[in-house]
Amino acid sequence: MSIVDRLRKACASYLGETAVSIDPQVRRDYGTDALLRGADADLVVWPSSTGDVQWIMRQATEAGMPVVTRGAGTGYTGGAVPTSGGMVVCVERMNRILELDVRNQVAVVQPGVITADLQRAAEAAGLWYPPDPASLHRSSIGGNIAEGAGGPRAVKYGTTRRYVLGLEVVLASGTVIRTGSRAVKNVVGYDLTQLMVGSEGTLGIITEATMRLVPRPAHVATLQVFTDGIDAAVAVVDRITAAGITPSTIEVVDAGSLAAAERYAGRTLAPSGTGALLIIEVDGTEGGIRDEARVIVEAARLGPVLGVDVAHDPATRDALWETRRSMSYALRASAPRKINHDVSVPRGRLGELYRCIAALEQAHGLWIPSFGHAGDGNIHVNIMIDPDDADAVARAERATSDLFEAVVSMQGSISGEHGIGFSKARYLPIELAPDVVALMQRVKAAFDPDGRLNPGKIWPDAPLPRV
Ligand SMILES: Cc1cc2nc3c(=O)[nH]c(=O)nc-3n(C[C@H](O)[C@H](O)[C@H](O)COP(=O)(O)OP(=O)(O)OC[C@H]3O[C@@H](n4cnc5c(N)ncnc54)[C@H](O)[C@@H]3O)c2cc1C
Repeated sequence: MSIVDRLRKACASYLGETAVSIDPQVRRDYGTDALLRGADADLVVWPSSTGDVQWIMRQATEAGMPVVTRGAGTGYTGGAVPTSGGMVVCVERMNRILELDVRNQVAVVQPGVITADLQRAAEAAGLWYPPDPASLHRSSIGGNIAEGAGGPRAVKYGTTRRYVLGLEVVLASGTVIRTGSRAVKNVVGYDLTQLMVGSEGTLGIITEATMRLVPRPAHVATLQVFTDGIDAAVAVVDRITAAGITPSTIEVVDAGSLAAAERYAGRTLAPSGTGALLIIEVDGTEGGIRDEARVIVEAARLGPVLGVDVAHDPATRDALWETRRSMSYALRASAPRKINHDVSVPRGRLGELYRCIAALEQAHGLWIPSFGHAGDGNIHVNIMIDPDDADAVARAERATSDLFEAVVSMQGSISGEHGIGFSKARYLPIELAPDVVALMQRVKAAFDPDGRLNPGKIWPDAPLPRV
């Protein structure tokens, strides 16, 4: 009997027949994520408890089988996907909110809880969970933690990282550890909780998370500012910041992205001559946000703008988000492949980043619409190609290297929220010095000496799966 068959039999008898599969279609489905690339899993298992995960980990070690942890599989860099076979441990059935501690403003959750479900539960208890990745209706809290996911509200509220107080983690050895605590302040020993944030399934399997909640802001206002181009939009962001306001959200959509959104919607979404638009949100008390919205309108109008809309009621606010919310779908409908980079630069260098993107379009003959989180300098740079055009693929690769070199030279990062997975592993040396990579690899070896957890991810020497 093969190792895979032996493992399947053992899992079926310990976890139950419905908690394991070697069906070819299932192995294929769980061998890809939102990157749409990967290698089939050898088998897929669905634990229901920490004890199950611990047992699975020990079986995998005994069988010498790699383990790839998977949440909801919405990752953009192939993190939840095997690179060369192995067992996919999918925690989607560990999806219970274990406790909502209102007095201490904390939620204790299993890793497979969907982000929007935690938000809803927190709101029902009169609290709020601010991190808002666009995938929030599908992504899991475990995946958000393992990727350090962010969203539009990160400008004021920070990313997932800020909300993780403590974790339960199953290590490669099968040992269960607890990190952090329920207290918001904790400086005892190394901060292993934060080390797990962004570790992309390479250090351990998160089986429980203690998440901080905050009071829900009573009122929100949404503003939309149209300008003739990116430089004017960046100048508006600078003037808002100089006015001493910290909006919860400042999103930008450039001309290429707007054109795609208008094609997708089948109608005009902005005044004629618009070269960029900003979506800005402020939240707080009713009086406070009316004042802040007024200051933002004044700051915007100090320079050349084509129009400013302000909305306080939910329906109109929702309408102002239409263009930004349609971006992923609109771009996907615009070319056979969208290579989505999520570079990040210090906010003050946003104009420089957009000039760099324009130069890359020229130099490599590519269309690169770019939109995203202007408030924290994290922009989604989308290289649009036909993957069957070998020349376009080669140009996209050169443009990617040039882009990454440029953001690092601007003191930024090649990934602000999507992580490295296998798709960006080869570019890691652009940002990290060899000594830093070596130190990180020693940390990895301390957690997982046999390299069992998520092999082929993060490090440049990772083998690449089929394209
Ligand atoms: C339409 C769309 C919009 C998106 N928008 C955003 C956005 O706005 N902001 C953003 O940051 N990302 C965004 N993403 C990317 C993705 O949703 C996030 O990276 C998300 O955090 C992944 O969660 P997941 O549950 O799908 O994780 P998966 O894709 O299943 O896994 C991601 C990584 O986490 C690891 N992992 C998962 N669960 C665990 C666990 N329990 N323990 C240890 N490791 C684990 C996996 O091994 C893998 O390396 C978007 C994706 C899509 C498809």
